[in-house]
Amino acid sequence: MTTKIEKVITKALITHELNKEEIIMLLEAEGKDKELLFQEADKLRKNNFGDEVHLRGIIEFSNYCSRECFYCGLRCQNHVVNRNRMTIDEIYEAAKEARNQGYMTIVLQSGEDSWYKVDILAELINKMKDNLDLAITMSVGEHSKNFYKILREAGADRYLLKHETSDKELFEKLRPGTTLQGRLNRLKDLRELGYQIGGGFMVGLPGQSIETLADDILLTKELDVEMAGIGPFIPHPETPLRGYPVGSVSMVLKVIAITRLLLPLTHLPATTALANLSPEGRFKALSCGANVIMPDLTPMIYKTNYEIYPKSSELLNFDNSFASWEKELLQHGRRVSKDYGHTPKPGFFAKL
Ligand code: SF4
Repeated sequence: MTTKIEKVITKALITHELNKEEIIMLLEAEGKDKELLFQEADKLRKNNFGDEVHLRGIIEFSNYCSRECFYCGLRCQNHVVNRNRMTIDEIYEAAKEARNQGYMTIVLQSGEDSWYKVDILAELINKMKDNLDLAITMSVGEHSKNFYKILREAGADRYLLKHETSDKELFEKLRPGTTLQGRLNRLKDLRELGYQIGGGFMVGLPGQSIETLADDILLTKELDVEMAGIGPFIPHPETPLRGYPVGSVSMVLKVIAITRLLLPLTHLPATTALANLSPEGRFKALSCGANVIMPDLTPMIYKTNYEIYPKSSELLNFDNSFASWEKELLQHGRRVSKDYGHTPKPGFFAKL
């Protein structure tokens, strides 16, 4: 006899569509049902992406931020954190070193830091594209459409801008001075400019319900992003959310698996935040739908300062060299991809 859960999973595998009630049913799955969800998401990942894992090396080049998000250790009211900005030459050299090791994608990430003028960033992107043969992802927050346009014209391929939570009130409470609609407008701008978009959200935010999580998955589907970063909320002691519990690893894995069923061609990272909670967390995510790892390539002298959440010493000292990841992934039955890892969505580039 086919169980209700089996029916829902079969429907998702055939149509890649589920309603909110069905998503909640999967979010509540435990035991054998949860294992079935993970297995089917893993099979779907294997059918669409094979065993290759894309490595996207992150350089966190500035931890200055003008915002005050309640969940983030980089918020401007945190006066305890050591602030640092990498010079343009330091960023370029870190990217060059990564490329020499084998990395094909670099993510340039910072807080919302107006110290780096858009023309300077555009020049850097241009130089990296001309000399380093890399795909470039930018992750520098909310800006004007013109700002995004200048970076795109300089050669940026992708932009990361998570919607964080689909609950309008919660969004506005946790990200003072910004709105969910504003975030969605930025995502629309990025779409119009031809970026491959990296969206995503957090699991376990204080005030988030299972209904919110289902809405987060549905919004990710609606946005049809090319990548979706889904990670646990981890409280930072220098934020108003200190003292709240961390997001559940098991729930993060279920959300990744459901997202895989609904977005079969979207890149899904096994997030660093997951690895921060559980050393095996990243590899568990790779076996329930994820196909991307984002190793932190920030020079060691700056790495400890980039604390959206407190990083474990294990994570800080992890060997993120390309060769080490090749070895590590092989032990888990996976291979490192040697290409740029652009979206495999048919027709994406034809539309540009
Ligand atoms: S989440 Fe982003 S925008 Fe908000 S405080 Fe942190 S770095 Fe700044």
